[in-house]
Amino acid sequence: MDAQRTLRRPISCVGIGLHSGNKVQLSLKPAPAGFGVRFRRTDLGGVDLPATVQHLAGIQLATALAHDDVAVETVEHLLAALVSMGIDNVLIELNSPEVPIMDGSAAPFIYLIQEAGVKPLAVPRRYLKIVRPIAISRGDKRIALFPSDHFKITYSISYDHPLLRHQSRTLRVTEDTFIDEIAPARTFAFLKDVEMLRQNGLALGGSLDNAIVLGETGVLNNALRFEDEFVRHKILDAVGDLALVGFPVIGHLVAHRAGHALHTEFVAKILEETEAWRVVEAPVDVPSVALGAPARETAPARLAN
Ligand SMILES: [Zn+2]
Repeated sequence: MDAQRTLRRPISCVGIGLHSGNKVQLSLKPAPAGFGVRFRRTDLGGVDLPATVQHLAGIQLATALAHDDVAVETVEHLLAALVSMGIDNVLIELNSPEVPIMDGSAAPFIYLIQEAGVKPLAVPRRYLKIVRPIAISRGDKRIALFPSDHFKITYSISYDHPLLRHQSRTLRVTEDTFIDEIAPARTFAFLKDVEMLRQNGLALGGSLDNAIVLGETGVLNNALRFEDEFVRHKILDAVGDLALVGFPVIGHLVAHRAGHALHTEFVAKILEETEAWRVVEAPVDVPSVALGAPARETAPARLAN
């Protein structure tokens, strides 16, 4: 059985919020099967905010969730780490509206999850398996999902900047490939945009410690972690935003020049296109299936949770 997972023990860290610049405490706590991924604002009295597209709030530079007056911002790097490590059930406590930005990548969250340890639960995991293509485009921005036996991403970006004109990468996303090739890739921003954000009271916590900053001709940071760190970070963001489906996805995601707004619009579209996917209890390549047990399918109606 491909079992649901949670953490072995609670774990915490402290970082700063990208926009507020304030100190934030983040705690990850084990949760039972079927609990899902939920945020809880400890400063606002314990209202749970499930990490699903139904709770999507505004998209600016990052992905935010809200329910009534309770909001959590910049969720995508943490969600990407959790889904890639197979953590289906976890309570995420925050004492502030922002998930700490850490170093601008998902690597610190991977480290936290590894420190806490992973615990399998006695309930099978369910996946959303794509059986027909789904696509949307907005101008020259495109995103689509195609049937595939694995979760794969092809991402391409193009900018009018000498350092990152065109970058493209295809990757089969597994726990190992995510940890090694995607999680360390940092978010990036253009210096001219950073100056504008600051004037509007945003990105007050932003610095060269938590973002790659691009000047006119090059990066202001000392070094890149990968030659194509930019497109790798876009893959990281897509993994995190796609987690708002509420299940790990089995399919090939293909995106060109997309961003949080298009990613999350696409997640809502996926859930509307109920003919284009099935909820299955195991991917077709797990050992139990190889031994002859077919992947079981459950009715799409069970998505409503
Ligand atoms: Zn990002």
